[in-house]
Amino acid sequence: MSIIGFLGLGAMGQRMASNLLAAGHELYVWNRTPERCTLLLEQGAKQCLSPRQAAENADIIIAMLCDDEASKEVWLNEKNGALAGIRRTCVAIECSTLSLDWCLQLAASSKEKGVEFLCAPVVGSRPQAESHQLIHLVGGEEKTLAKVREILSVSACAIHHTGHAGSAMVMKLAVNGLFGIQVAAVAEILGLLNKTGMTTELVISLLNELPITSPALKGISALIEAKKFAPLFPVDLLEKDFGYLEKLANSQQVEIPAALVAKRIYQKAKNCGYGKENITSVVKLYV
Ligand code: NAP
Repeated sequence: MSIIGFLGLGAMGQRMASNLLAAGHELYVWNRTPERCTLLLEQGAKQCLSPRQAAENADIIIAMLCDDEASKEVWLNEKNGALAGIRRTCVAIECSTLSLDWCLQLAASSKEKGVEFLCAPVVGSRPQAESHQLIHLVGGEEKTLAKVREILSVSACAIHHTGHAGSAMVMKLAVNGLFGIQVAAVAEILGLLNKTGMTTELVISLLNELPITSPALKGISALIEAKKFAPLFPVDLLEKDFGYLEKLANSQQVEIPAALVAKRIYQKAKNCGYGKENITSVVKLYV
């Protein structure tokens, strides 16, 4: 069993940390809002006052945070950041969805400290985290992944090695871009077909019979049909990811017009007050 430091107990982090505890690992947790640690403390985790403290005795340190700014603060704060307290034998794992630039900087900062680093963002949402069905995309050295594969497997049904550290983030942003474009497209198509007199139920049941509908879209369509807008993967997070995808495309001098239109649609959803709701709420712009 390993000693694991876990940083960030939001919706995803809570579930992943809880799985690690249930698997018998010793868990040192830190969250910016300390009250969010309560449930895990009841399950046997130990609370830390800073990311640095959580890292001090850890064999492995895992972060699950909302964005680049949070990740920077948590890993690199000179006084209290995780890298300030980390041991050279520790493996640092960043599971959040972040920009490529920041991911590469973090990989370099870890290397300077002599610490092995993996970028391991996840595909899947809260239900998949709860049922151990996440998919990790992992960038970094294969030998480092081999050391922590068992730990990552606790919440995951599959682990894919993508190459160097940044490649996992590039792949994750691509996945979210493709997903977000599909969800925005189905939302507007529903609005259009509703206007012609076809019901949402009929359109969705027909789309589900056709090969153009991806498994992910089937899942989203079921939530749209049931009018379920409670947050799983909130609009705010997807809009953030489109921002990182745009930054990536700009850095590569590549045009991604479809993704930029989708980004504007999620920004509109955010401006309409749906930021904290599930991405399914984008349908409310049309239906
Ligand atoms: P969340 O519920 O919003 O949790 C965000 C976490 O980041 C919280 O622990 C929050 O702390 C922390 N945080 C925010 N700003 C911070 C700062 N400045 N300094 C330190 N900590 C800060 O988000 P989530 O749904 O767990 O998602 C976490 C990551 O996984 C994101 O990168 C997201 O894009 C990615 N992801 C999410 C899903 C999903 O379906 N939700 C799926 C795949 C990947 P507080 O509690 O103090 O606010």
